Amino acid sequence: MGFEQFGIVSFTGSTKTEKFLEFLKNNELRGTVCTECGAKFFPPRADCSNCLSDKMDWFPISGEGTLLTYTKAAFAPKGFEKDVPYVLGVAEFEGGTKVFGRIDKSVSEDSIKPGMRIKIKTVDLGEDRLSYELTGA
Ligand SMILES: [Zn+2]
Repeated sequence: MGFEQFGIVSFTGSTKTEKFLEFLKNNELRGTVCTECGAKFFPPRADCSNCLSDKMDWFPISGEGTLLTYTKAAFAPKGFEKDVPYVLGVAEFEGGTKVFGRIDKSVSEDSIKPGMRIKIKTVDLGEDRLSYELTGA
C-alpha cells in the first residue's frame, strides 16, 4: 500500500513524498521544508520550487491556525458527489504555512468565519484510506 491510501479519490499510487501518509497514520500533518533555502511547502513537495534543490526535510503543522477564507461547495467533482454540501477553507499556521482543506462537518456553518481559530485533525475515511480536515480550535 502506498499513496493510494490518501483521500477520497487518489490520483497517484506512488510519490517521493509518500511519508506524508505515515505521518497521517500517526495523527500528524507535515509539510516539507527545503534544507538549502528554508522554503516551506504544503502540500509537501519533493523538490524546492524556489532553489530547485531536492534536499528536503519534514516539518510538523500543529497547534492552532487562523482561517483566512472559506467557501461552500454545492457541486462536487467525480468521487465527491455524495459529500456535498461541504465547506472548504484555507487556514494559516505558524510560520505562514497555508493549509487548504475541508472543514469538519461537525463545525456549524454559522460559526465559520475568517479569523476563527482552526486546528487540523486526521480523518479515517474507512477502507484503509486517510485524509485530514480543518476543525474548530
Ligand atoms: Zn530551496
